[in-house]
Amino acid sequence: MKKITIIGAGPGGLATALLLAGKGYQVKVVEKEAYVGGRTSSFEQDGFTFDRGPTFFSMPHLLEDLFAQVGRKLSDYLTLKEVDPLYKLQFDDVAFVPHRDEQQTYQDIEQLFPSNGAGYIRFMKETRKKMNALMPLLQNKHNSLFDYTRLRAIKALPSLSLGKTLYDELSKYFTDERLKLSFTFQSKYLGMSPWECPGAFSILSFMEHEYGIYHPIGGVNQITKALAKAFTELGGTIELNRSVKNIIVKEGRIYGLTYEDGEQEQTDELVINADFAYAMSELVEEKHLKKYTRKKLEKKNYSCSTFMIYANVEKVYQEHHHTVLFASDYRKNVEEITGSKTLSADPSIYIHNPIVTDPTLAPEGKSPLYLLAPVPNNFSKLDWEEQKDTFAELVFDQIEKKSGFKDLRRHISSYSILTPNDWEQRFNVYKGATFNLSHNLGQMMYFRPHNQFEEIENCWLTGGGTHPGSGLPTILASATITANGIFKKDKKGILIQ
Ligand SMILES: Cc1cc2nc3c(=O)[nH]c(=O)nc-3n(C[C@H](O)[C@H](O)[C@H](O)COP(=O)(O)OP(=O)(O)OC[C@H]3O[C@@H](n4cnc5c(N)ncnc54)[C@H](O)[C@@H]3O)c2cc1C
Repeated sequence: MKKITIIGAGPGGLATALLLAGKGYQVKVVEKEAYVGGRTSSFEQDGFTFDRGPTFFSMPHLLEDLFAQVGRKLSDYLTLKEVDPLYKLQFDDVAFVPHRDEQQTYQDIEQLFPSNGAGYIRFMKETRKKMNALMPLLQNKHNSLFDYTRLRAIKALPSLSLGKTLYDELSKYFTDERLKLSFTFQSKYLGMSPWECPGAFSILSFMEHEYGIYHPIGGVNQITKALAKAFTELGGTIELNRSVKNIIVKEGRIYGLTYEDGEQEQTDELVINADFAYAMSELVEEKHLKKYTRKKLEKKNYSCSTFMIYANVEKVYQEHHHTVLFASDYRKNVEEITGSKTLSADPSIYIHNPIVTDPTLAPEGKSPLYLLAPVPNNFSKLDWEEQKDTFAELVFDQIEKKSGFKDLRRHISSYSILTPNDWEQRFNVYKGATFNLSHNLGQMMYFRPHNQFEEIENCWLTGGGTHPGSGLPTILASATITANGIFKKDKKGILIQ
């Protein structure tokens, strides 16, 4: 049986590993950290548990399907709790709290933004159709332009809203600016601006309204722990504290790996889950690359980064699980993050308060509070060591002023900060661009690095850096596409998509 090595135990690496192990391959995942999960991992801070990255989990049926592919039941590994209402969207003058229930949301919209309710119903109906047309595109490989001549691609083209930005797309449905932002801020999940993100991504807010948002008990990190558990039960191996130093390529094909301790190991196929641009610039010798040399990588577009504060709070705020505080001038804030790459004096902030759904995350009466401000990636050259404390104070100021988390600072016993520099240096995320290569049309589908990596034979990609892109549902889709590619190559049949 073929030997397959996977670099990285992020959700992409683990989901691919699980599918491959399910077909009987000998699979080993090598992970540089002492824990699994990558950006979807957890950490403890004096008895408080934090998700490091993802906190929204949508479309759980994709994960259920993945477990079913290997004869397992997701509910044996994970307890999912729906979060409804979805979130609180706090603007300067109004708070919008959408529900999963369409009728309820219609009424809320009519009350807060009169005459926009019908637009919401139309948005849901039309985007449902768009989603059905787009799903096959997101679930299949795009290794050659020939893939686009297939019927499914042609059928989907009118739905892609090509040439339209996400903001334009939502302007078809709503007249109120705040409502447009309520259905476009999700482009931040891709680290992009609604004024640049392709209109096709209106499926992001649709997905939340249609399929709901879920919280796994213990945190979103439990998804990667569940994948790791099922994978090892199937005979797979995970080696932690195993950092890859170099990918050995001979005559255009994968030969093996060199680890940090100098040991070399041969492998038949290699799957790279480590951040794509990091892996190409740090692990592969430049002479093996044409499309993705360091110079060319530098010229690509990347997502924004995130400034994180993880705070131990000595009380429980009876606020929503998810709150988004919009900057007073949201467009300016977005332009500063993605355009001029400067720090905003009025940042938008996301507050994660999971204790209201899941009391297992902190000692009784206390809560782990996760604060995220989207900020420029490290092409900005900002000096984070100098800026981080001042910026953290600004985040606290905004929260105390604009949200229901009153007197927050007074109730924090300790906190830690994670800057774009930490994402880059500690977590091997290229330029700290936490959501990978941007998802503009020139870097999507065929134009994104292929799941069957086009520059090196026997080399595959999985995770947010390849097709279809960043975000857990799409990462799970990337794992299926990559595993299917290997099965097809070995004539092992493919999984149901
Ligand atoms: C702050 C933040 C919030 C997010 N929120 C959401 C959300 O709410 N919902 C959502 O769907 N998505 C969200 N995402 C996006 C995305 O789902 C996650 O980033 C996801 O973890 C990316 O998965 P991945 O498999 O691509 O890679 P990663 O999770 O980055 O995993 C890559 C792995 O490779 C390992 N590695 C790197 N270099 C080496 C090496 N040399 N040797 C061995 N191992 C190595 C890393 O340690 C890591 O474990 C968020 C991301 C961030 C950063």
